[in-house]
Amino acid sequence: MGYDNDNIFAKILRGDIPNKTVYEDDAILAFHDIAPKTPIHVLVIPKGAYVDMDDFSANASADEIGRFFAKAGEIARDLGVAESGYRLVTNNGENAGQIVPHFHVHIMGGQKIKEGSMARGL
Ligand code: 5GP
Repeated sequence: MGYDNDNIFAKILRGDIPNKTVYEDDAILAFHDIAPKTPIHVLVIPKGAYVDMDDFSANASADEIGRFFAKAGEIARDLGVAESGYRLVTNNGENAGQIVPHFHVHIMGGQKIKEGSMARGL
C-alpha cells in the first residue's frame, strides 16, 4: 500500500488540521490524541511519509529510527509518566485496527492499565 497524502496526520503535518503539540523538531511531531484513552495519551509521529511500523522499520534510516525512539522516550519522561509507567503502542495494519495510515506510536499513561488490556478498551 502506498502512502496516502490525504491521511489525517499528513494534514496535521501540513498545518491543515490543528493539533495540541507536545514536541516538534525537523523530523518528529508529538501531539495529544483527540480521543484520549488514558489521562496522558500522546501520539508521536515521524515527519517522513511512512505508512506504518513495517514501512518505517524497513525504509527509514537507522539514524531516523534511532532518533525517533530516543525522542519518544524523552517525551514520555517530559510528560512525567516514565517513573509511574506507560504503554507504548503502535497498531500496524488491518489486523491491529490501525486507523490512520501514517506511522505513529501512542504513549499512554497516567493511570494503571489493566493487565492484558490492549490500547483500546482499557
Ligand atoms: P491508530 O491508527 O493507532 O488506531 O490510532 C489513531 C489515533 O489517532 C486514535 O487514537 C485517534 O483518536 C487519533 N486521531 C484520529 N484523528 C485525530 C485527529 O484529527 N487529531 C488527533 N490529535 N488525533 C486523532
